[in-house]
Amino acid sequence: MFDLAINGGRPIRESYLAYGKQWIDDNDIKAVIDVLKSDYLTTGPYVRKFEQCIADYVGAKYAVALCNGTAALHAACFAAEIEKDDEVIVSPMTFAASANCVLYCGGKPVFCDIDPKTYNIDINQIEAKISNRTKAIIPVDFSGQSVDMDGIRKIADKYGLVIIEDGAHALGSEYKGEKVGNKADMTEFSFHPVKPVTTGEGGIVTTNNEVYYKRLELFRTHGIIRNRNQMSDYQGPWYYEQLELGYNYRLTDIECALGYSQMSRIEEFIARRRNIVKIYNEEIENISQVIIPYEEGFSNSGWHIYIIKLKLNELKVGRREIFEALQAENIGVNVHYMPVYLHPYYKKLGYEKGICPQSESLYESMITLPLFPKMGEQDIYDVVNALKKVIKHYSK
Ligand SMILES: *Cc1c(COP(=O)(O)O)cnc(C)c1O
Repeated sequence: MFDLAINGGRPIRESYLAYGKQWIDDNDIKAVIDVLKSDYLTTGPYVRKFEQCIADYVGAKYAVALCNGTAALHAACFAAEIEKDDEVIVSPMTFAASANCVLYCGGKPVFCDIDPKTYNIDINQIEAKISNRTKAIIPVDFSGQSVDMDGIRKIADKYGLVIIEDGAHALGSEYKGEKVGNKADMTEFSFHPVKPVTTGEGGIVTTNNEVYYKRLELFRTHGIIRNRNQMSDYQGPWYYEQLELGYNYRLTDIECALGYSQMSRIEEFIARRRNIVKIYNEEIENISQVIIPYEEGFSNSGWHIYIIKLKLNELKVGRREIFEALQAENIGVNVHYMPVYLHPYYKKLGYEKGICPQSESLYESMITLPLFPKMGEQDIYDVVNALKKVIKHYSK
């Protein structure tokens, strides 16, 4: 009756719907223009303002802004003193940066499989991955759902490990009624345009630990200090010293002004994401060939992404055909993620297929549906209708 667009039928939508995108309003634009007219383009008043805003929002003592989420993870690994041959436990169901940051420091990512229900790191498998070289754990709040931080804290304390939470999906998410970002030793957030709020490129680390805070700041500016009390010498008012091998990882005042302005709408953004997910869940629950996301009782996700899992044994085709058919309907689906260690670079390092079977099996059957605050009602139902159309066509 309704031909799939991929077979020459009429697509559900005329125009392509992206899987995620920013929402910039006139206040955001004005905030950026005001900085452009001011004296400071890079480190100026908005860096501190933005850092304070994020720290207050998540309930952490300190926040250090960096030029992107990946740099923020790198800085956190530096602050935690991850060094050559140190092992760090990482979830493979994530963006490569969660593991790359360990490699940047000469360490070795050790992948721990996911819980097949939540897609977060499986707490019950962590201890088996710990060796006497293990220094830290990088759990990822996948799709916005918080990891069970109390459970991970217990393990970390038992073995003396640092917890670096990859909260790139989870600004605005809650764990046991509190915002994500104050329970790990350090939590990283990203401000890439598809993330909960954006600065263009941008990232931040929140922490309650003053030692980490100082190391994060040092790392962000070349490892250079200007505070006379910390210097080994003092040759005059121009003088500064480099103490560590840091980077230029600063976030500009322009970007921080944008982020600060965006933060005034974060609750609205998150509320809209939750509303869209409510509609998705209600509509998609009835498609028996599809599994909707599962959320733990302790979590109140901010929903960075919405992931469906296909029951492949009830379908005539694989994920790829479903994906391509949805794209032809002009629905911007995506896949998050291929397990990190299956990338050619990681294979070259010696990682092999089969390390984390749950992650590999999820990867074969997962599809990310469009989800962003600015989606309209019609957009939401276009996605639902396209999914129903495609699944119906291919179901056994
Ligand atoms: C987006 C993201 C990052 C890092 O993001 P940047 O693009 O470098 O800001 C890290 N981890 C995860 C899980 C992400 O989704």
